[in-house]
Amino acid sequence: MEVTLLGTGAPAGLPRPDCSCAVCATSLGADARAATALLVDGALLLDLTPGAAFAAARAGHSLGGVRQVLLTHPHDGPPVEVPAGLPQPGRGVPDGPESTLLTGHRVRAVAMDSPGTGYAVTGPDGQRLLYLPPGGAPAGLEEGSGSAERYDMVLADLVGRPDALAKLRAVGAVGPTTDVVAVHLDHDVPPGAELRRRLAAAGARAVPDGSTLVVGVYEDVPDVSRRTLVLGGARSGKSVEAERRLESFPDVLYVATGGTRGGDTEWASRVSAHRDRRPGSWRTVETCDLVPLLAQDGAPLLIDCLSLWLTDVMDAVGAWDDAQWADGGERALRARVVELAEAVRSARRTVVLVSNEVGSGIVPATASGRRYRDELGRLNAAVAAECEEVVLVVAGQALVLRGPTAGV
Ligand SMILES: [Zn+2]
Repeated sequence: MEVTLLGTGAPAGLPRPDCSCAVCATSLGADARAATALLVDGALLLDLTPGAAFAAARAGHSLGGVRQVLLTHPHDGPPVEVPAGLPQPGRGVPDGPESTLLTGHRVRAVAMDSPGTGYAVTGPDGQRLLYLPPGGAPAGLEEGSGSAERYDMVLADLVGRPDALAKLRAVGAVGPTTDVVAVHLDHDVPPGAELRRRLAAAGARAVPDGSTLVVGVYEDVPDVSRRTLVLGGARSGKSVEAERRLESFPDVLYVATGGTRGGDTEWASRVSAHRDRRPGSWRTVETCDLVPLLAQDGAPLLIDCLSLWLTDVMDAVGAWDDAQWADGGERALRARVVELAEAVRSARRTVVLVSNEVGSGIVPATASGRRYRDELGRLNAAVAAECEEVVLVVAGQALVLRGPTAGV
């Protein structure tokens, strides 16, 4: 099956015609996107958008062979003109829930949790693609519901609804060889490198308008970094960045390392703020016992954060007392850091670790403050050395220090 993306943008297009935001202002050239529409094997049109015939012609295709037009969502605004010779568009599968079209494709309508209809299309060659409407995730996908046929390609609103991908992954409908392509792209993410970086973290990609993709050829799917360290100063946005990296994965285990700071109400309110932000399918544990968690197989881990883990270990080894520090405390701390770094190195599950970046600001006034700063710098360096990807967050902007999207 061959899919030509006549457009890859949100229903209003990108840039939005009436918007003066920075994303719209910089969505130029290949980053400008018409409303999403797909031409499948030159015969099946999924969504009819303004200028479809022209977009197809520019991509080297004609709409002359289109025998069926299916719409995924109610199209707002003035009615789209149906080009001459094109069949009348319809919503839902004719004679559904699943039927074979005149084009030879089997199509099943997929119920959504928002207005709109998704389509699962099986090509004459047996390849399977799933196309979802803007702002939507499949409704009623339950683990073990038997719907776990794997798609070869998924095209969905991944920026607006990353949880759609998490749901598909949870039931096995998306696997490592599924080509996941973001469509319906709107002005939520800066175009270019930032969009590529965010999608790569989800194991997905975007392509320019006019691209033709062959379903089942997945070499271009970015590998998800197994271990990522997210650094940043206080309130830099590092936790939001870390959470965002795992939004499209199911059953994430959120590890809050502040659990031992008894009676700290500021900490408690921060944990509850994090909890409100996180998807409902995530679980939370409060522990500083990270090595066993890293050694276990299982769902992705989000560890927030290493600086509190270090505080806990420094408490345990008596690092705040000069005599205890000199008398084995320092050696004990270094051993714990080595043990943690080795656990990160041998971890087989996806791990995102958060830590504070300190040491670039003013020198702490106290000896214990300087000791903490120095040890945190060493810890961060030891963990960073074991991660495929290292990201520094400044003012909510992620700078990739190490990893596949560094410097692009
Ligand atoms: Zn805008």
